Amino acid sequence: MAIVECPTCDISTVIGLPSDTTVESISAKGVIKTFEDGRKTRKVNCSQGHDVYVTFSPR
Ligand SMILES: [Zn+2]
Repeated sequence: MAIVECPTCDISTVIGLPSDTTVESISAKGVIKTFEDGRKTRKVNCSQGHDVYVTFSPR
């Protein structure tokens, strides 16, 4: 679990992430992707419905 702030409205949103991962970046636009080095970008939505793209990496 991690808490991220929506880049659009600054509302804190709890997201479910695998344990032992670190959030690298958060943005309002992005692409859902798995990188070759194991990083991943996942899309979640804040309580206002904005898209929040979270990139995280294994620790
Ligand atoms: Zn929002």
